[in-house]
Amino acid sequence: MSETRSTCPYCGVGCGVVIEHDGQQITGVRGDPEHPANFGRLCTKGTNLHLTASPVVLQHQRLREPFKRATRGAAPQALTWDDANREIADRLLAIRATHGPEAIGLYISGQLLTEDYHAFNKLARAVIGTPHIDSNSRLCMSSAVVGYKQSLGADAPPCSYEDIEQADCVLVSGANPAWAHPILFRRLEAARAQRPGHKLIVIDPRRTETAELADLHLQIRPGTDVALCHGLLHAMIRRSWTAPSFIEAHTEGFDALKTLVHDWIPARAAQVCGVPESDIWRAAEWFATSPASLSLYCQGLNQSSSGTAKNTALINLHLATGQIGRAGAGPFSLTGQPNAMGGRESGGMATLLPGHRDPARAGDWAEIARLWGVDAADLPGHRGHTAVEMFEAAARGEIKALWIACTNPAQSMPDQALVRAALERCELVILQEAFAHTATARYADYLLPAATWGEKEGTVTNSERRISRVRAAVPPAGQSRADWRIVRDIALRIDAGLGRAPRLAAQTAEALWLEHREATRGRDLDITGLSWATLDRDGPQQWPYVDGATSRLYTSGRFATDTGRARFIARPYQPPAEDTTAQHPFSLTTSRLRDQWHGMSRSGSVPRLFAHQGRPQVRLHPDDAARRELAEGALVQVRSARGELVLPLQLDQNVATACADIPMHWGEEFIGAQRGVNAVTQGAFCPDSKQPELKFSAVAIEPA
Ligand code: SF4
Repeated sequence: MSETRSTCPYCGVGCGVVIEHDGQQITGVRGDPEHPANFGRLCTKGTNLHLTASPVVLQHQRLREPFKRATRGAAPQALTWDDANREIADRLLAIRATHGPEAIGLYISGQLLTEDYHAFNKLARAVIGTPHIDSNSRLCMSSAVVGYKQSLGADAPPCSYEDIEQADCVLVSGANPAWAHPILFRRLEAARAQRPGHKLIVIDPRRTETAELADLHLQIRPGTDVALCHGLLHAMIRRSWTAPSFIEAHTEGFDALKTLVHDWIPARAAQVCGVPESDIWRAAEWFATSPASLSLYCQGLNQSSSGTAKNTALINLHLATGQIGRAGAGPFSLTGQPNAMGGRESGGMATLLPGHRDPARAGDWAEIARLWGVDAADLPGHRGHTAVEMFEAAARGEIKALWIACTNPAQSMPDQALVRAALERCELVILQEAFAHTATARYADYLLPAATWGEKEGTVTNSERRISRVRAAVPPAGQSRADWRIVRDIALRIDAGLGRAPRLAAQTAEALWLEHREATRGRDLDITGLSWATLDRDGPQQWPYVDGATSRLYTSGRFATDTGRARFIARPYQPPAEDTTAQHPFSLTTSRLRDQWHGMSRSGSVPRLFAHQGRPQVRLHPDDAARRELAEGALVQVRSARGELVLPLQLDQNVATACADIPMHWGEEFIGAQRGVNAVTQGAFCPDSKQPELKFSAVAIEPA
């Protein structure tokens, strides 16, 4: 029996795992006691990882060989890799010749490894020449990216997990780490046990499992986070709880923000947010006057039509009180996916370029051209469509081909009616996937089997900027191949078809990582002092890494802006993109369950992970149900302006009145012909981050 150290493929905590195997079959998994994210602990999903690689799953749920459909709706027919690569390259070249490179879009995933991201990025921008590459991370953390850049000057979470242990006050906003980041929550629980007087404040419209632990739960109306932050800041200014010397020495823009929040007296914020005024004063005092205050935030802030404003409003609180750049202090965005950070670093998104460069800057394109050894005129030179924009463009017929990798937009994207119309309208849909039965597979003309956890080599970066190795323990299932290799082989054929030298020719994942590393030289995320040999010898490391790892950023008080000063961002409160009405009186939010992951293509293969919750339900406050004479377990229709679905009702005191909640995980693979919660969600997105508003949809709930 052998053991291989790797990383959990689920959430952004990035726990280290030890894979037990015989070289052919994974037989067990346990937490890696030496990994600094988890020190040997795993949550339920991680503990059961080996079951996602069982012989039954490998045989029946994995995509094991390439397939094609002769026509849409036809049964897929197996073909060789050679034929698949040739046909796909030929069809992409034909679309490119007829409609131009921008008729091709790539929609990839925060679950790909950094090396895969780098390969896809070169394929899109340097080989095909399209700017339209985006990731499902757009649905996850793009508001956090833009928030950090606007406020602090760079997309760099300044904190470390050890800050959880060193904070005196932790503010959790729009996150439920008890279920979504369980190992961090264990660390938080342990820290509270060690620190008498520790304060935990939770801001969430639901009384979540995290809120159950809180000293103060601000159960705000959905979407009112900015109003609350402005009210908190007003209270801090009024009571002189701010840090004038920090503001003076290290920030800019405070006067404009002060003017903006002048009218946000806590009584007004309390009215807008639906919380007691006294709780706003208490939260402001705890946050501002604790020796070290840390905020942890996730989708509740990010998945919003004002997601960037929510992020910057929270960061304003840190800057106003000097709660940043010290042990236990800072704004800490939790990433949802295992490699959302690596995607950001490698620039595999429409609004990013490698090494935290910006597609709005011509000089940054010129640097990428030099790094990639291509003529700058061959690169698109402008930003492409973001996730929702890409599917809208496909629905309009502007994008003719979509190459989708390691994600399931026919379940996970908002406004499914539009997304499915887009997939149907495309001339060519390529799906590169490890699992055979996702909702998107039905729309694919080509299905390319991808290797997955336990079968591939590379790196990921977790929420605290820590780069960990992902290692192969067993061969890929069937004929599946590493994602980067699938991309490279088709890129070689496209370049040959265009009669030019290969632009993506790397032979190994490490070679791709070295190309990525070079793109970080001299940048805020510089990892030129790091190597795979260092990672193998010293274990996971936090960036920047030039002479060594960096656990905390901005300790000198100098920020990553041009002036070196952090910026206060004065953005007015905006309500959600759509309001509840007499026809649609409930605000619906989407949520995560403890034991499931995203669309369940991996976690859904483990029967025991359904023990916690076995079926999707819509949760409603008992008072709302009583008013409508709806009983526990009754089938109800949830209807928005975009679609409907029918689910059993679950009565839940923890959901506020006039609100409803549906877990994000179930799609039609699990609930028959229905499309899951995204049948009713909306595609409205934040104007800055383009992240869609998955946390607020106006719906009606009636007997089915
Ligand atoms: Fe995996 Fe996240 Fe659980 Fe850690 S906390 S074991 S990374 S799912």
